[in-house]
Amino acid sequence: MKPNGRRPPGGVRHPAVWFGLCRAVAAAPAMVGSLLLLMLGSVAVDRWAGLIPLAWAAGGAVLMTRVGERMVVRAACGFRRPCPVQAVALKPAWSTALRLSGTAAGDVELYVQSARASNAYAAGGRSVAVSSRVVEDYATGRLPEKQLVAVLLHELGHHASGATRPMVLVSWLTAPWRLARSLLTGLVSILAGPQPRRGALVAVVAGLGVAVIRTLHQGQWLVGEVLILVGLASVLCPIADAAISRRSEFAADRFAADHGLAIELAAALRALNDGHRAPCGWSRLLSSHPTSEQRIRALQTATVELGPDGGRDTYDAVDSAERGPAEPGSRCQTMRRQS
Ligand SMILES: [Zn+2]
Repeated sequence: MKPNGRRPPGGVRHPAVWFGLCRAVAAAPAMVGSLLLLMLGSVAVDRWAGLIPLAWAAGGAVLMTRVGERMVVRAACGFRRPCPVQAVALKPAWSTALRLSGTAAGDVELYVQSARASNAYAAGGRSVAVSSRVVEDYATGRLPEKQLVAVLLHELGHHASGATRPMVLVSWLTAPWRLARSLLTGLVSILAGPQPRRGALVAVVAGLGVAVIRTLHQGQWLVGEVLILVGLASVLCPIADAAISRRSEFAADRFAADHGLAIELAAALRALNDGHRAPCGWSRLLSSHPTSEQRIRALQTATVELGPDGGRDTYDAVDSAERGPAEPGSRCQTMRRQS
């Protein structure tokens, strides 16, 4: 997707590839680990040795295409094309968000994910989704149209900052590593018995420490160094990825704020948060999103920086162009009847 509209002052400050590039770099050790695991697997099947890494690379190439992205967001994320009623309901807000961000309608596809919770997503380079609860809330008036536009603009902001573009490919390329890690932690959890999760983690760290000491003691420096690197990468890479992801959330929020919808996005965040407790400790470090309070504070700062009319002229111009001569709110009422 190529958002190409006018970027107001204070727009997404990083080059369009920055976030995606950083997340790909953070995932590089896991990709290398996946390749090594596949090569190990190839040795086991001898005759077809080259076929497994080749199929893995070919799968990644397919996922970079529009058709490949459609397949993966449907299969992995449960995204579906909006049904006719949902499509009619979402059309005004979606059109406004596209116009505001300067995105051509064919460059990005809107999906609905069946879910009881209110949420919205950006995935790959061409996909945005809202949960069915968001559509319901909008149709019944619990979520005003401007707030829905703000949420959609936030998701388009992710595409504008390039944060999600490589992530479908990255997820594919790191899948063998993540699968192996899940199997290992699952095995350790079983062996650890009815211990809390922290106990299993301590067991993994202790096991790795013992393995490193033994290999170094036996003079196998290379193996020991590899084990140390694996241990450090397993801890530091997810933390780095989560930190970049949180920065990209602020950037996407700022994208919406720059288009005059900071207050509406803050209101939507309050509604979407719906009493969720903020993560703390280790979970907070690995959280892909800042807390709603942090995001709302950043949006409030943005409104101060942008001044009283910051970006609102853009929204008002697009909104009146979208609405034409129709009475304000008329489409909202139509949707409420249809739902
Ligand atoms: Zn986001």
